[in-house]
Amino acid sequence: MSSPAVAAVILAAGGSTRFGAPKQLLPWQGRPLIAHVADTAWMAGLSPIVVVVGAEAEQVTPALAGRDVLVLRNYRWHEGMSVSLSLGVAALPSSVEAAVFLPVDQPLVDVRFLRSLVAYWQQRNAGIVIPVGREGQRGTPVLFARRFFAELAQLSGDIGGRVLFAQYPDERATMPVADPDILTDVDTPAAYEALLARQGMSLEWDALKGVICDMDGVLWRGETPLPGLHDFFALLETRRIPYVLATNNASKTPEQYVNKLAGMGIVTNTEHVLNSATAAADYLATQAAPGAPVYPIGGPGIREALRSHGFTLTEGDHADYVVVGWDRDLTWRKLATATLLIRNGAGFIAANPDRTFPMEDGLVPGNGAQVAALITATDVTPVMAGKPGPLLYERALARMGVAPEATLVIGDRLDTDILGGLRLGMPTALVLSGITQADELPASPIHPDVVFDDLAALVQAWQGRLQKSHDSPA
Ligand SMILES: [Mg+2]
Repeated sequence: MSSPAVAAVILAAGGSTRFGAPKQLLPWQGRPLIAHVADTAWMAGLSPIVVVVGAEAEQVTPALAGRDVLVLRNYRWHEGMSVSLSLGVAALPSSVEAAVFLPVDQPLVDVRFLRSLVAYWQQRNAGIVIPVGREGQRGTPVLFARRFFAELAQLSGDIGGRVLFAQYPDERATMPVADPDILTDVDTPAAYEALLARQGMSLEWDALKGVICDMDGVLWRGETPLPGLHDFFALLETRRIPYVLATNNASKTPEQYVNKLAGMGIVTNTEHVLNSATAAADYLATQAAPGAPVYPIGGPGIREALRSHGFTLTEGDHADYVVVGWDRDLTWRKLATATLLIRNGAGFIAANPDRTFPMEDGLVPGNGAQVAALITATDVTPVMAGKPGPLLYERALARMGVAPEATLVIGDRLDTDILGGLRLGMPTALVLSGITQADELPASPIHPDVVFDDLAALVQAWQGRLQKSHDSPA
């Protein structure tokens, strides 16, 4: 399940005279271009992110404030791209297996594109992956595997990595790009104006074949249904859109959610509900022997999910796995038992990473806080079943049999619901009826595809679009 470490090297050292200001600082979706590109690389899961600045570095660098990036300064930027490439490559730790080299001036390059570049490399194990647009034209960003880093560091002049394309024809893989326009660069003020017309929020509603929806803060707040709840389920039924209601909360069982919805007048069944406890148990079923002994920390949600998958719950005398969910009766003894088991080689799985849980009187320790204690005590990082990790959404997609790019993720949290969807290449819709406030969006590095006040507004947009596409003769 672990994915290889792929870094990003953002090439932002070049000088530009045509824009009256550094090109790196042109506004894009409310932030400087260089910050937008760094955010996109981060959302795609690339790590570490190295940014090479040069021309106007004093002006450009502050635009990256607050972002987890390594900024390198290329004082010889006027000699061409090669100096930036070698600086960037030299800064990459030895754990990095490949790097994507992103020019700072391709603002339409998005998370989906970067994910597909990495996936293409993984499938083919090519040394160099080059995107190709119309008529086979080669574009950027390009991915290089580690075995080319030494040669990249030796380049000189302004040719960049292209010289290696010709030298190593057998190592090259060209990746067709469905929409070659996303490779367009901001070369001139006119090109920038033209690209601005394409920015902004959009979603291909008629391409949607499935929905994964969060519950708390989207369908209800506490015991109160949120606006649009009934219209939302009516729309899914009319359009025959399969859906999964997916939550990080592992403390309640799917039946409890079905009952809660029934109390609000929505008829559904447990096939449509997935919590992180079930995702953890599903994952475990792919790893462990049938009936394997498991030591659980957590409430009924975790215990029932494990039991229904046939695992033997133990008191900690022996276990192949430790599975940790939020436990309101947590004791030092339980943490000690889990620590001893993990130190003795038991697998370590956590239901969800939520650090806090909102109670009436404020935020209290959530499962992430319990898991942090165990990580500190064992030096072992658990497999995380919940969002933004991939397991929960992958289980949901498998249940529906729908491709990620055709499945809309709806949620109220940027760092779990939306980030998890973006990282799997899914279209994402944020609703502002829960955790996230509108004024947090400009500063956040996580950019959903669309934002609505609530589910009611989302349903209206979806219906509006379908109506229009239905009416149009094409
Ligand atoms: Mg929520």
